[in-house]
Amino acid sequence: MSPVAERKFWGWGREGEGVSESEVHQLGDSLHDRLGFSDLRLVDPPRLSDIRLREPRVQPPALLVHRCAADTRSRAEHTLGKSLRDYVRGLRAQYDHPPDFVAYPADEADLVAIVDWAATERVAVVPYGGGSSVADGIEPRVGDSYRGAVSVDLRHLDRVLEVDVESRSALIEAGTLGPQLEDRLRPYGLSLRFFPQSFEFSSLGGWIATRAGGHYATMFTQADDFVQALRVITPQGLVQTRRLPSDGAGVSADRMFIGSEGSLGLITQAWMRLQDRPTHRAGASVHFDGFEQAWRGVQAISQSGLWPSNCRLLDHNEALHSGAGDGTTAILVLGFESADHPVAPSMDRALQIAREFGGSLPPEEPDEDEARRWRRFFLRGPYLKEGYTRLGVIRETFETACTWDRFPEFHAEVMDAARKAVADECGAGIVACRFTHVYPDGPAPYYTVIAPARENAELDQWAAIKQSASDAVLRNGGTITHHHAVGRYHRPWYDQQRPDLFAAALRSVKSTLDPAGVMNPGVLVDPV
Ligand SMILES: Cc1cc2nc3c(=O)[nH]c(=O)nc-3n(C[C@H](O)[C@H](O)[C@H](O)COP(=O)(O)OP(=O)(O)OC[C@H]3O[C@@H](n4cnc5c(N)ncnc54)[C@H](O)[C@@H]3O)c2cc1C
Repeated sequence: MSPVAERKFWGWGREGEGVSESEVHQLGDSLHDRLGFSDLRLVDPPRLSDIRLREPRVQPPALLVHRCAADTRSRAEHTLGKSLRDYVRGLRAQYDHPPDFVAYPADEADLVAIVDWAATERVAVVPYGGGSSVADGIEPRVGDSYRGAVSVDLRHLDRVLEVDVESRSALIEAGTLGPQLEDRLRPYGLSLRFFPQSFEFSSLGGWIATRAGGHYATMFTQADDFVQALRVITPQGLVQTRRLPSDGAGVSADRMFIGSEGSLGLITQAWMRLQDRPTHRAGASVHFDGFEQAWRGVQAISQSGLWPSNCRLLDHNEALHSGAGDGTTAILVLGFESADHPVAPSMDRALQIAREFGGSLPPEEPDEDEARRWRRFFLRGPYLKEGYTRLGVIRETFETACTWDRFPEFHAEVMDAARKAVADECGAGIVACRFTHVYPDGPAPYYTVIAPARENAELDQWAAIKQSASDAVLRNGGTITHHHAVGRYHRPWYDQQRPDLFAAALRSVKSTLDPAGVMNPGVLVDPV
């Protein structure tokens, strides 16, 4: 068996995998043909030898030295996440805030030792699962009041420790990545059925810590829904919550850690609710001439009690640029799944609703249908991102959620703000929208910007677009993030949206669990 390649320190996946040079050229050609982007310059990916990191300010504790690494590759890999800003900075060899070293604990005892040492030495601890953060969650940009920063990579905590078939749940270690997790549950006929687009290289602990959203569009959408109990190491000791199917005993201890983004402690294990692997499936795509007809149809389906597993609405631009359609219609990709019963009746009823709102089924396609093309795009997307960056094209997303009553005005204003900013900053480009998740009380719209960047101006151009769009999101009652997390990046808007007294209460919780303020400083709460 050939050895598994190392993870890339820049880009998605493992070294030697991902997009080929010819694919990047094809991408450039298609951006030229579809969007008229000309003069695209192709930059080489960064080389490790070009990266100069500042000297480590602290050394690992003697007892854990064998579990730590301070070589350039390890430190660079743990410096930047996977957003456009990270990719652009990586391409420019700007690794300004590397961890002083990376710790790879083998077990909870190692974790306790690191956290104790860090609290005593005033060294920031940055938990690291798969490193797929797009919100500056894993970047050790912690300010100068710390003597240093250690990135704590949980990759060796990767076992499924126990499966309770009776209650359909499993005890899983936090560093387990998506594919490993599913491989280990498969023999039991069970699945977590949680598939974020970053599934291949993101971890259970990361999903819980960021309240990630899976691929399934309705019913169980976020990691929150699957957590039965948690085990967390905080600087003040271990917190273990009780396994219960549901619980009315006061404020939820699990909820305090779900979404805490490493700022309160390290999640080491979780009991997770599982599902039987589906055996019945149905899929279809529906065309709508207008976007309003389409989202009104989706609203009706979301309130029908049918709970489709997939209910992804692509606006005209999204359909065109994902390759799912030709851009003349909005497309609703619908799917149903069950491990228990045939789903054709549910699909029939959902299609009936869609028709009532003007939807129509496209003529049969012999080779590949739209839902499949959409799925291929979804799986390939993470790898293509580095291609866009190398071509000097801004391709970035922002995502949110709002209630149906606000949606028409919300969407119009957010689109308007984003389009105007794209035109002002880039002169050309598009803004597309899809719904990643839909709830009976509102959708989770996800916006994609594709625009040509000026050389060396990508970061400023994107910052201006993001500012306008995010301001419009907050002004119109949305959230700064439905599932990408707050991190350091979304703090300015998160601070506006959270109630002041809640912020004060969160700071108190933080100072109780982490009095030295070493856990992921700057994420959710300012460093002390
Ligand atoms: C291509 C791409 C596609 C994506 N698709 C989705 C998607 O479909 N849905 C979605 O929700 N998000 C998505 N994301 C964002 C990202 O994958 C999620 O935020 C994911 O949950 C992060 O998991 P991770 O293991 O990579 O965490 P990391 O990036 O390593 O960490 C994220 C945050 O959680 C903290 N953390 C990590 N592990 C622990 C732990 N054990 N204990 C305490 N804190 C911890 C970190 O300190 C950091 O603040 C995508 C990102 C990319 C690049």
